[in-house]
Amino acid sequence: MRIDGATGVYGIIGWPVRHSRSPAMHNAAFAALGLNKVYVPLPAREAGAAVAAVRSLGICGASVTIPHKEGVVEYLDEVEPVAAKIGAVNTLVVEAEGRIVGHNTDWIGANRALAEAGVELATATVLLLGAGGSARAIGFGLLAAGARVVLANRSEDKGQRLAAELGCDFVPLAEVDRCEADVLLNATAVGMAPLERLSPVPESVLGRFQTVFDIVYAPRQTRLLAAAAARGCRCVEGLAMLLYQGVAQFELWTGRPAPVEVMREAICS
Ligand code: NDP
Repeated sequence: MRIDGATGVYGIIGWPVRHSRSPAMHNAAFAALGLNKVYVPLPAREAGAAVAAVRSLGICGASVTIPHKEGVVEYLDEVEPVAAKIGAVNTLVVEAEGRIVGHNTDWIGANRALAEAGVELATATVLLLGAGGSARAIGFGLLAAGARVVLANRSEDKGQRLAAELGCDFVPLAEVDRCEADVLLNATAVGMAPLERLSPVPESVLGRFQTVFDIVYAPRQTRLLAAAAARGCRCVEGLAMLLYQGVAQFELWTGRPAPVEVMREAICS
């Protein structure tokens, strides 16, 4: 990689960002297309100061991760409509005249991961587990693609509030065996360390679903996905969502088709 006075600087704003796979993914993509751009960690304790730094340092674009996805919104010049509905931004696009526009590509990543696996979202019913930040973004994105969504969450009041906001049905987590759906999508933290030995639903219900998508990606093969594979379900890994949210970012920043396989290799290795 050659860095010179004209190198465009991109990065990831968050706290902490040490474990992010995004630098490897985006730098591999920039290199594959021969672009004079570099992507670096931008650890930031405070959202407003981070956006001010993007403006003042001439940073060309940024990813935004925990804990700033909601906090950055008020400092931006514009927020794309689906991201505004979600109320969270994971991508900053700096336009030619310096205006900063916020986008959310997390839901795009989830939808593309399902499409890659052959799921027709326009006709699918998705049982969405969780009512946190990821479930919220994914829920809006699934509905935007025409899917029917049924939400389930451990804390019922929180789940019911999100379901009302989305305009979808709610079932208590203990009653998911009553729910008819094509896709089971886990957007809870269950399956990720320290909960890696757990499944968010009893494994006996998994045979009801054609497709099981677990957005948890560490470990890559979660307990839920292992059990779903054993029952013959089509399985979608969390890494696919991570990949495609990055692919959408790359395309927003460069206006060019992303080198998907290069990026997949970078996050999987
Ligand atoms: P939040 O903290 O916002 O939400 C956590 C959700 O998990 C809540 O619905 C919570 O339920 C539920 N939950 C936590 N512990 C339990 C439990 N023991 N039993 C049942 N439900 C539980 O997290 P995020 O939405 O930001 O992230 C969720 C997961 O998604 C994480 O594992 C994260 O790593 C992963 N992720 C993956 C991405 C990808 O690209 N693949 C992108 C972003 C996140 P309750 O409301 O009852 O507390």
